[in-house]
Amino acid sequence: MIYFFEKWDKLKDKLKNKPLFIFLDFDGTLAPIADTPAKAAMPEETRRILKSLSKKTSCKVAVISGRSLEDVKSKFCGLSGIIYSGNHGLEIEGPKIKFSPLVSSGYLMAIKTIKGILRKKIAAIKGALLEDKRFSLSLHYRLVDDKQVPLLKRIFHETVIRYLTGARIRIEKGKKVLEVRLPLEWDKGKVVLWLLSRQKFVKYGSEVLPIYIGDDLTDEDAFKVLRRAGITIFVGRPDDSSYAKYYLKDTGEVARLLKDILEIQN
Ligand SMILES: [Mg+2]
Repeated sequence: MIYFFEKWDKLKDKLKNKPLFIFLDFDGTLAPIADTPAKAAMPEETRRILKSLSKKTSCKVAVISGRSLEDVKSKFCGLSGIIYSGNHGLEIEGPKIKFSPLVSSGYLMAIKTIKGILRKKIAAIKGALLEDKRFSLSLHYRLVDDKQVPLLKRIFHETVIRYLTGARIRIEKGKKVLEVRLPLEWDKGKVVLWLLSRQKFVKYGSEVLPIYIGDDLTDEDAFKVLRRAGITIFVGRPDDSSYAKYYLKDTGEVARLLKDILEIQN
């Protein structure tokens, strides 16, 4: 993995006169990781930079989060001009675009039942947090004592296992979170390709350079599809198992990069 700012002088020329499509994860990328999802917040300065970037005709910005669409939107306090995507790409909303998945009632029932069972079973585990994201469920364990994590994981798997037969649901893991999701072949990589094919830059045709910045396991799908076609940046300690080519150390450096991009975009 290459430290992004080491190559910035060279990359700058590549980015200068090119229309950019910037894809950003939210937690751990724009906002520092917080103890609970509710506490996570993006610095005002970052919001200001994103606002300016989204106003450039040569630049599009999309935020792709595992949060629900409503939740991730609320973190931007009404900032328009950006494409928001929630539930890892299942829900999409932005300028001239709105997409919500058609979900079977069977799936929604399964989610409801699993939620009820998990809520009861994890009640005794201090710090466990169950989040209903409408089309998915997240069981967060960042605040759970290390010794209790195996128990929490066992409860989760025992609860969901019977729904896995017949592929009624799909389970995924992220950073300190276990998730129940739709049994669909849809991920952050697919939504990135979909947005790239759909969102036309009127003035520039297809010469768009995609940039993807993210810190989580779910961002790997996007890094993978953009590895050759775009600039892929992992946030955190360099990790050679990642598909991303570059890394930035933290959310502060992400903000700095966005600001640098803003300065070279005309
Ligand atoms: Mg993240």
